[in-house]
Amino acid sequence: MTVTSGSARLGARTLLVEKEKNLGGDCLHFGCVPSKTLIRSAQAYHTMKHSRAFGLPAVEVPPVDFGRIRERIRSVIATIQEHDSEERFCSLGAKVEFGEPEFIDEHSIRLNGRLVSAKTWVVASGSSPSVPPIEGLDKTPYITNKEIFFLDCLPESMVILGAGPIATEMAQAFCRLGTKVSVVQRSGQILSREDKDMADEVMQVLASEGVAFYLNASVVRVKDLGGKREVLIKDHEGKTTALSAERILVGMGRDPNVKGLNLDGVGVELDRKGIKVDARMRTNQKNVYAAGDVTGAFQFTHAAGYEGSVVVSNAIFHFPKKADYTFLPWCTYTDPELASIGMNEKRAKEAGIDYSVFTEAFRDNDRSLAEGESVGRIKMLLDTHEKPIGVQILGHRAGELLSEWVAVLNGKVKLSTLATAVHPYPTLGEINKHVAGAFLSPKVFSGKVRKGLKFFFHLKGRACG
Ligand SMILES: Cc1cc2nc3c(=O)[nH]c(=O)nc-3n(C[C@H](O)[C@H](O)[C@H](O)COP(=O)(O)OP(=O)(O)OC[C@H]3O[C@@H](n4cnc5c(N)ncnc54)[C@H](O)[C@@H]3O)c2cc1C
Repeated sequence: MTVTSGSARLGARTLLVEKEKNLGGDCLHFGCVPSKTLIRSAQAYHTMKHSRAFGLPAVEVPPVDFGRIRERIRSVIATIQEHDSEERFCSLGAKVEFGEPEFIDEHSIRLNGRLVSAKTWVVASGSSPSVPPIEGLDKTPYITNKEIFFLDCLPESMVILGAGPIATEMAQAFCRLGTKVSVVQRSGQILSREDKDMADEVMQVLASEGVAFYLNASVVRVKDLGGKREVLIKDHEGKTTALSAERILVGMGRDPNVKGLNLDGVGVELDRKGIKVDARMRTNQKNVYAAGDVTGAFQFTHAAGYEGSVVVSNAIFHFPKKADYTFLPWCTYTDPELASIGMNEKRAKEAGIDYSVFTEAFRDNDRSLAEGESVGRIKMLLDTHEKPIGVQILGHRAGELLSEWVAVLNGKVKLSTLATAVHPYPTLGEINKHVAGAFLSPKVFSGKVRKGLKFFFHLKGRACG
């Protein structure tokens, strides 16, 4: 949609082809929007249940009526849908056509029984939940992100296969709403892209709220028991455990949506992750571009939007532009959130980069304590030239707090500027200033500086023993 609006507004004759009945894609209908809406409801319910932590009377909370949450999700989607309407694209000058396109050659598609040709094509068909070949899964009812937001009622219990961002967010949200949640993860940590210490802290919070984690565990088979489903798992020592639950949520990664497009038929190269593109988002057929989840790179809405802008720059402006993911931020919307930009320790080690780490804890942030939020910390990585190369924030509203670092890192802002810029008190954002200060203060308050000041201005030193 970024490409459609960008190219239409720049005056290119633009056609947007959509397979589903509505525009908006996974993010609006089955992804970011419903998940964040659900998470907010779960947070509010959690706060109600823990009212005493805020000095308020304990309240008896009735069980959740998932139908009401589902209606709230539908209403938020419907409101946002207005921004993604056919009429809006038409007002920008783009035509929208619904149907299932198929490439005939690298310049033409067949759509609704006719041929449509264009100088440039952009494939931005997104991704779908990956469903691995687990024994018995084809005969057992399971859900994915396509169904989870629209369930008839709150499941009494749920086994989640996978512990990536989607699975982890859903684990906490459903646990908070009252579902007994178990998470099965093949590797030894959840959120495997993140540093283990940060991911472990997220896991501890979720575990303390009641989520059961099975790490280093593989799924042997699943079975439909009628009212319940059984998931047989095996740990790395070969010990098996049978988990039973009303629902199985499969959250084991994403597959690119390439089926039916006949991309290989017209010679567009694909790999396991999706459509292969160069840094300018071009496929091997130079007039066919691809952007978003279908390329399998960074599967976030803002990454798809960014890649779309790279396509517009190359294809419409004819201004060569390469996608650069050095400072691509992201956030996992658990509570506390875990947000990241640039290098974390894991990626720095993989890249062979020497770094130093500076941290600041949320329990030392006055606003955080007032909010009743003391978990988490910020981690800032500096390279050997003392330049920031990455920041991770685990804490309340980490996604919002990361925005300052988006500007600092992209704008090459000096840490001294951040550390001396006045931030309003008391805000969570002060943690950004303070971690920069943690790096600078040993330099400012060094023995050498003290000696110099004593020499020039006759400072008299300590006033107490
Ligand atoms: C539960 C969940 C939560 C998420 N939360 C976040 C989040 O908080 N933040 C974030 O940044 N990302 C989040 N994501 C990821 C985000 O949804 C995707 O990265 C984003 O939607 C990718 O955008 P896209 O344009 O590549 O694909 P989409 O937005 O999915 O758009 C692809 C469009 O192409 C259409 N299409 C598919 N095949 C064809 C075809 N053959 N012909 C014509 N049209 C076709 C689809 O119907 C769809 O409308 C989440 C994902 C999930 C599943």
